Amino acid sequence: MNKTNDVVVIGAGIIGCAIANRLAGAGFHVTVIDQAQPCLEASWAAAGMLAPHAEMAHSIAAPLHRLMLESNKLYPGFIHDLLQETGMEIGFQQHGSLMVARGYQESRLLAGIFERALAAGIPAEVLTAEEVRQRQSHLAANIETGVFFPGDSHVDNRMLCKSLLTAAGNRGVEFNFDTPVVNFKKKSGRIAAALTPSGLVQADTFIITAGAWSGNILKSLGLEISLRPIRGQMVELAVEPQFLLPLIHSSNCYIVPWSGGRTLVGATMENVGFDKTVTADGVKHLLDAATSVVPALGKSSVTRMWAGLRPDTSDNLPILGRTHISNLILATGHFRNGILLAPITAQLISELVTGQESSFALSPFRADRF
Ligand SMILES: Cc1cc2nc3c(=O)[nH]c(=O)nc-3n(C[C@H](O)[C@H](O)[C@H](O)COP(=O)(O)OP(=O)(O)OC[C@H]3O[C@@H](n4cnc5c(N)ncnc54)[C@H](O)[C@@H]3O)c2cc1C
Repeated sequence: MNKTNDVVVIGAGIIGCAIANRLAGAGFHVTVIDQAQPCLEASWAAAGMLAPHAEMAHSIAAPLHRLMLESNKLYPGFIHDLLQETGMEIGFQQHGSLMVARGYQESRLLAGIFERALAAGIPAEVLTAEEVRQRQSHLAANIETGVFFPGDSHVDNRMLCKSLLTAAGNRGVEFNFDTPVVNFKKKSGRIAAALTPSGLVQADTFIITAGAWSGNILKSLGLEISLRPIRGQMVELAVEPQFLLPLIHSSNCYIVPWSGGRTLVGATMENVGFDKTVTADGVKHLLDAATSVVPALGKSSVTRMWAGLRPDTSDNLPILGRTHISNLILATGHFRNGILLAPITAQLISELVTGQESSFALSPFRADRF
């Protein structure tokens, strides 16, 4: 491994793969390096929700919410292009999302989300107890109200990652898997090469897309970014025939109907370091929450459980842009929304690399804000 690339992307999750694919499409010679196999970390663990509207329940900062809405707009074209290029089915389902509430407190919170959606011009429909059941007849008897967001959707993120890898490979992207980047060789204030156990990988530009591990890599360059892993546990249930559409959000969980009857219940939010243990408490919490919203789920079989690590920054905003090392770009910290944010991230980072004017204000996401 001693050749010069235009771009080296470090980390083959959805963010690294989307960027590599886009840059290869623009004619760059790109190599992607991953310490393990591709897309087996957060990008595999995710639920695939593309839900910028329902995510308003999580007090998203305005610049991030704008970024999410922008990426959501790009999604149909992003999926269409991948389908054309690879012929691979990605499970993109545009059925909206349904937020449900019970009791005074939850109903008040939901009313507030609806008001904010209206003020932001986001299509949303407030539903009475009867109307909410017309959309989803299996809801628990104590669900009193709901809000439907028709613009939310979901995707099978694992198929999406596979399709991105195929598309990128077809465009000539090279992959080095099971190859951790352990350090860098610097020359005249720039990075000359990434150091791996197999040797040096040279490039004009280096892009760090190592998810929750990005901070560890940057330490070797003397760069401190505020990034920590937040564990999310998930449970998969078999629901056959599938009776749950659209995806459902309640105050304690979400329920995502994937194809083939796979139904995901997620997710915990735990600050426990780099620990992907699935715990009895985590699973109990998710199953209690899901069956309290849709009691019929209690009869379904549990088919799988897993945990993944979300890359979270101290202000919950991603880090997108150049650093004081002129040929080093960061695209990380996508926290709860990296699947949703993949298309806009690939577009913005590609604009940086090609020297185009940015189509979105990047200053809230700059690396030196911490
Ligand atoms: C349970 C859960 C549910 C989620 N649900 C959703 C959802 O519904 N919708 C949504 O939009 N987002 C969701 N997310 C968030 C989303 O999954 C992440 O934001 C996104 O996957 C981050 O992608 P990434 O490519 O940055 O990181 P990752 O997918 O974690 O990839 C990072 C890659 O970097 C590699 N790497 C690390 N260190 C090195 C090194 N030294 N050298 C080389 N390679 C290295 C790793 O091996 C890994 O492959 C969820 C996350 C979790 C955990």
